[in-house]
Amino acid sequence: MSEVDVLGMARKQLAVAAQYLDLDEGLVQVLGMPRRQVIVNFPVVMDNGEVNVYQGYRVQHNSGRGPTKGGIRYHPHVDLDETTALSMWMTWKCAVVNIPYGGAKGGVKVNTKQLSKRELEKLTRRFITEINIVVGERSDIPAPDIGTNAQVMAWIMDTLSMQAGYTVPGVVTGKPLELGGSEGRVEATGRGVVVTAIEACKSMNKPFAGQKVVIQGFGNVGSVAAELAEENGAVVVGVSDATGGIYNPKGLPVRELYQRYSGVEGGIRNYKDAEPLSNEELLELPCDILMPCAIQGQLTAENADKVKAHLVVEGANGPTTLEADQILSDKGIPVVPDILANAGGVVASYFEWVQDLQNFFWSEDQVNERLAAIMRNSYAAVHETQAKHKTDLRTAAMIIAVERVARATTTRGIFP
Ligand code: GLU
Repeated sequence: MSEVDVLGMARKQLAVAAQYLDLDEGLVQVLGMPRRQVIVNFPVVMDNGEVNVYQGYRVQHNSGRGPTKGGIRYHPHVDLDETTALSMWMTWKCAVVNIPYGGAKGGVKVNTKQLSKRELEKLTRRFITEINIVVGERSDIPAPDIGTNAQVMAWIMDTLSMQAGYTVPGVVTGKPLELGGSEGRVEATGRGVVVTAIEACKSMNKPFAGQKVVIQGFGNVGSVAAELAEENGAVVVGVSDATGGIYNPKGLPVRELYQRYSGVEGGIRNYKDAEPLSNEELLELPCDILMPCAIQGQLTAENADKVKAHLVVEGANGPTTLEADQILSDKGIPVVPDILANAGGVVASYFEWVQDLQNFFWSEDQVNERLAAIMRNSYAAVHETQAKHKTDLRTAAMIIAVERVARATTTRGIFP
């Protein structure tokens, strides 16, 4: 169970948007519930011969706009409620950037640090076999999330292909390039975070170049966001990983941190030309833009008041609690919400899927240009809706997303 009630959070966000849209009560009920929740318990023979049983989930929230789409998370906190909340957020995320998917999420409650590579492979192959009754290239397409990566996606693709009897690249995205992965997919979430941050700065009449940026999380999202923020002229003054944070008001050498310190024993804290601090202290650093790119429930009623950034851009899913949202709004700090800011990953996943179905592949420039165009247009639409309804960016993004999903649901009609 995660410490924050993420499912409660997701449902409240829906309720707020529904008020603006004057939706029928029955429809709100449909949108607030997952269509399908699969729970599996499965054994894995460990390297020492012992058998461990793991619990895993696949939740499909809504398929009104197309096949369901969403990552697979391996983390000790994964549970049914968390997976359900994340699947709801995937529905809104796909809708706000207008790609033809519904939302899903999967996960296994496991600490991957305690597994060998062979054990991780066995766990993955068995888990995907247990949920293969609901996964498919036209029905539900997994992708990476916290604790999973391109190698895990390759094992998923191979397992489902072995069972089908032929190679099915479109059944999962975030694959390695040589197996039908897409150029630009690995960087896409971080790239989208920076594109939306640049757009948000424009709408605040500020240049992005020269902004001081603090990034929580130095994984696939945070490290790329850091590098691209720097490439676009911002100064990354604080970053953190699981070992803690580091701060240097003059700027940190992002590429060196990634190449030499990230992922090694002791992590980025081994870099010495910076002040060491905790992950909590990092969020309260003086800076212009704060990018929480780690995990949910980081900005809370306890610390939101101490945030000094002028803009928050959510690279993680659900990093800001409802209470923190209110506090930040009262302080006049705009929050570019997760369903918009981190949608770059699923947008590039969509591109990967389209390429796989057509067996026709794009260049990295094509992927990046199309990704940036979708992110910019989506930001503009959310910003316009915010002004129209005199609300915050999250509610505006939710209004757009919920309206699209509601319209699809009512136009299709309720079967039978
Ligand atoms: N796990 C990522 C997310 O939360 C990507 C999902 C996908 O590409 O399907 O957006």
